Amino acid sequence: MKIGFCKLQFGLAKWEINYDLSITNYEKMSNIQPILDKVLDGERMTAEECTTLLESNDFVRIGLAADEIRMRKNPKDIVTYIIDRNINYTNVCNVVCTFCAFYRRQGKPDTYVHSIGEICKRIDETIALGGTGVLMQGGLHPDFNIEWYEDLLSTLHEKYPNFQLHCFSPPEIHNIHLISGLDYETIMQRLKDAGLNSMPGGGGEILDDEVRKRVSTKCTTQEWLDVMRATHKVGLRSTGTMMFGIGDKIEHRVRHLQRIRDVQDETGGFTAFIPWTFQRENTALGRKITEEPTGIDYLKMLSVSRLFLDNIQHIQSSWLTQGLRLGQTALRFGADDMGSIMIEENVVSAAGANTHANEKELRYQIREASFKPQQRDILFNYVDREDIQKVDKSDSMKLKELSVAFAD
Ligand code: SF4
Repeated sequence: MKIGFCKLQFGLAKWEINYDLSITNYEKMSNIQPILDKVLDGERMTAEECTTLLESNDFVRIGLAADEIRMRKNPKDIVTYIIDRNINYTNVCNVVCTFCAFYRRQGKPDTYVHSIGEICKRIDETIALGGTGVLMQGGLHPDFNIEWYEDLLSTLHEKYPNFQLHCFSPPEIHNIHLISGLDYETIMQRLKDAGLNSMPGGGGEILDDEVRKRVSTKCTTQEWLDVMRATHKVGLRSTGTMMFGIGDKIEHRVRHLQRIRDVQDETGGFTAFIPWTFQRENTALGRKITEEPTGIDYLKMLSVSRLFLDNIQHIQSSWLTQGLRLGQTALRFGADDMGSIMIEENVVSAAGANTHANEKELRYQIREASFKPQQRDILFNYVDREDIQKVDKSDSMKLKELSVAFAD
C-alpha cells in the first residue's frame, strides 16, 4: 500500500512519482527510534534489534546515534591513525578463497617468499617515515612450521626491539596447528615469546559457515574464534574484522557481530573492529556477485557495529577500500580511527582497492572533518613526533587540476 503520491508537470513532460513509503518501509523507519533510544540510554542491543537497524533505510538517524556513542567512548576532538606497512612475506597459499586475488599455488612461476633482508629493508623505510610497526601476513604456506615463524619474529625483535610486530591471522595460526599438531594456545604463547606484539583480525570475512564454506576452504568460524580466544588468553590483543558483500545476507552479518561481541565479553582482547566491503576485481567471486554493497551500506554497517559492539572501544574507518572521501565521512558515522597510512599493501589492492594517502593527506582529511589528527601505535598509545608541525605546514592540499568555467 502506497501512502505517498505526487504528480509533477514541466512543459510537455509529466512524471508521476510514487513515494516508496509502503506500510512495511514506514514501519521500518519509525521502529528504529526505540532501539536507538535504548542504546543511547546505555542498554545492550539484541540480535533482532540489530537486524531491524540493518534492514532500515534511515542510515542518517542510525549514524547520528553511532556518532553520539563514539563521542562518549573516545575523546571528542581526536581521530587516531597509525603509520605502518603491510608486508606479505609470501603469496604461496594452500587453500582457495574465491574472493582473493593475491594467492598463488606453490610451484607457480610468480610465487615469492621474502628473505629476512628484504623484510628488514622495508622496516627501515617504515621507521624513516615515522612508522611504529609492521602488519605482516602471508598465504598459508604448506611447508612453514612454527619454527619458521619463531625465527622470523625473534630475528626482527632482536634487530628492532621497540618496533611493534602486528602479525599473522587466525587462518595462518590454524595452518601452523595443522602442520605442527600444537594447540592454538601453545602456538600463540611461543609466538609471543618470540616477539609478537599483537595479531590482526584477518581472515574473518563473514563469521558464519553458511557463507564461509561457499567462498573459502580455510578455517571455520569456530576455529577463527578459538584462535582469537587463545590469542587473548596468552595476553596478546588483536583486532576484529568483517568483510561483507561476498554473498552474505543481513542475518549472517548479525551473527558475525554477535560472535565478535560474545568473544569480547569473555576475553576483552579486541582493541578495534574494522568492517569493509569485498573488493571484487581480479577475483573469481567478483565475476559472480551481482549485488555490491554501496557507500550507504558501508556507513550503515559501520554505525550499527559501533552501536552493537558496546564492548569494543575503537571502530576503524576503512579508507583504503572505501576511498578517502567516504573514509572521512565514516568519522561521523561511528568511527574514531582512520587506520593506517599503509606504506605498502598488496592484498586488497590486488582486488582493485587502489586508494593511496600519505600522512599529510590523511591528517588533512581528519582536520577537515573537524578533528585533531593523532598518531598512535598498534595498542592505541599516542605517539608524538617532533617533526609533525612540518607535516601539517600547509593546510590545503595541492590542486591537482584547476579548471575555470566562464559564464557569458
Ligand atoms: S585470502 Fe588468505 S587464505 Fe585465502 S587464498 Fe588469499 S592468501 Fe590464501
